[in-house]
Amino acid sequence: MHCPFCAADDTKVIDSRLVAEGDQVRRRRECVSCHERFTTYEVAELVMPRLVKQNGSREPFNEEKLRAGFMRALEKRPVSVEDIEAVINQIKHALRATGEREVKSLVVGELVMEHLRELDQVAYVRFASVYRSFQDLSQFRDEIERLEADPGQASTDQPEH
Ligand SMILES: [Zn+2]
Repeated sequence: MHCPFCAADDTKVIDSRLVAEGDQVRRRRECVSCHERFTTYEVAELVMPRLVKQNGSREPFNEEKLRAGFMRALEKRPVSVEDIEAVINQIKHALRATGEREVKSLVVGELVMEHLRELDQVAYVRFASVYRSFQDLSQFRDEIERLEADPGQASTDQPEH
């Protein structure tokens, strides 16, 4: 990179180390021409796409909101915090991997449903009933029956309402 002192084209790295618990690389550089020294920090830019809501408004991805949604759906369910964190990371990874700057919030909702279904079917039905805003009991029953016909795991207890 260019020297910030004399704008020479070439600088050399004289020291390089990981800082911020390995999240950054700190480099000491020296200008080949004027021999001034300076420091640069390199950080990976992990861009989360913004979410486009159904009404067209945009909002930044909010990890806390996502976590709160999982916690609510999984309240009193036998699922560990580690499992929830792992799923949150998978969802973040999936969103980054799209490489898009904007993603429909529906996509996030579907990812959450997909993961909840694997984690805990009761939580899945709880979340789905709110998220898909089941119009009536028959829709709700259809979803339960769909789960029973395709038992991924464990129980199909009715969620309390
Ligand atoms: Zn220089």
